[in-house]
Amino acid sequence: AEAREAYAARLPRSAAIHARAREVMPGGNTRSVLFYTPFPTAMVRGEGCRLWDADGNEYLDLLGEYTAGLFGHSEPRIIEAVKAALDGGINLASVGEKEAELAGLIVGRFPSIEQVRFTNSGTEANLMALAAARGFTGRTKTLVMRGGYHGGVLTFANERSAVNVPIPLAFSDYNDPAAVTRDILAEGDTLAAVLVEPMLGSGGCIPASLEFLTALRAATRQTGAVLIFDEVMTSRHGAGGLQQRTEVIPDMTTLGKYMAGGMSFGAFGGRAEIMAIFDGHRPGTLPHAGTFNNNVWSMAAGCVAMGEIFDATAAEALYARGEALRDALNSACVRAGVALQFTGRGSMLTVHFRDGVIDRPYAASQAEDRLRELFFFDMLAAGIYLARRGMVALSLPVTDADCARYIAAVEEFIAARRPLLAGEAG
Ligand code: PLP
Repeated sequence: AEAREAYAARLPRSAAIHARAREVMPGGNTRSVLFYTPFPTAMVRGEGCRLWDADGNEYLDLLGEYTAGLFGHSEPRIIEAVKAALDGGINLASVGEKEAELAGLIVGRFPSIEQVRFTNSGTEANLMALAAARGFTGRTKTLVMRGGYHGGVLTFANERSAVNVPIPLAFSDYNDPAAVTRDILAEGDTLAAVLVEPMLGSGGCIPASLEFLTALRAATRQTGAVLIFDEVMTSRHGAGGLQQRTEVIPDMTTLGKYMAGGMSFGAFGGRAEIMAIFDGHRPGTLPHAGTFNNNVWSMAAGCVAMGEIFDATAAEALYARGEALRDALNSACVRAGVALQFTGRGSMLTVHFRDGVIDRPYAASQAEDRLRELFFFDMLAAGIYLARRGMVALSLPVTDADCARYIAAVEEFIAARRPLLAGEAG
């Protein structure tokens, strides 16, 4: 409560922005992930990996727009590409050269993608991938994981959170190869698709084990269900996504977030045989329209982002920086002897307030929830911006010095809050 009050006192302009927003939007909010009490920080400007709030405070941006901000807030080549696209006229109700160029870049990189189509968001990409799988198999049901997240209307944290989704669903358990094999085989030829993140992102940056991915691949191959990897977040883990690293190759992949340089974006692709369902040259085509699917600024920025900036070298360097950061943070926690740890892969990591191996989604205790909130407000007070739930997604402008600053802030948190933290020394 103390940290919350200090926060509220420090940010009067953010408070006022929230008060106005509440009059016209439920909760004063249009993105649930950005809601927290007493009110969210309102950022007004960004540059590289720095942010400034409405009260003039500066932050190191370690959130990176939940992975969509990979290039930072002012990458000149992205801005140039968007400006040039807008100079040519805002959307022309027409196909353009850039969409085939961007599609070519994606097809050339992702082992599972022979053909691809664009959407406006990762959510839509998943909906369209499911439509493709259903059309291709002639089946209806989709298997998802408890704790998974596939977009605003596709939150599959549990059975209750999925009640709004008009898709017949079956559930299984993340990182449980035996359970997932049993559940897929039990569904048999009723199952159109298995939709899974190769690392839970929103679910806490919990990587899939190779055994789990291999089991998914084997069981779906046996029943003919289409295996879809949601790489909306994890595609940053290599030039060809996390699938290139694990070498478990799905039938379809969905993409989004950073891939259009920070402009709105989604894409779904896969085996040509499946994607052919959208081929207008053939009979029985499945329609896939969308006014902004090929909008000129996303396509132009995407070509530069994927063609010139985020190449294999950049992807490997970012992955390595994230691995080093997570190692350093976990070493600091072990040295301090507190029940605090960071999970993830590469440039995505999340803080957890518990001991022991975290390889499944879990229900946090009230004490853990309170510590997570305190951590968030303490980081904001230290000038470090991350997700309310403690996720970090490094962007390309983040330097080793910035990472060192985060490590130091975490060490200070441990020192200041040690009495509240469980563990051998607490
Ligand atoms: N899939 C995953 C794994 C995500 O993390 C997200 C967004 O956080 C989405 C899909 C949805 O993407 P969008 O917010 O662009 O609809």
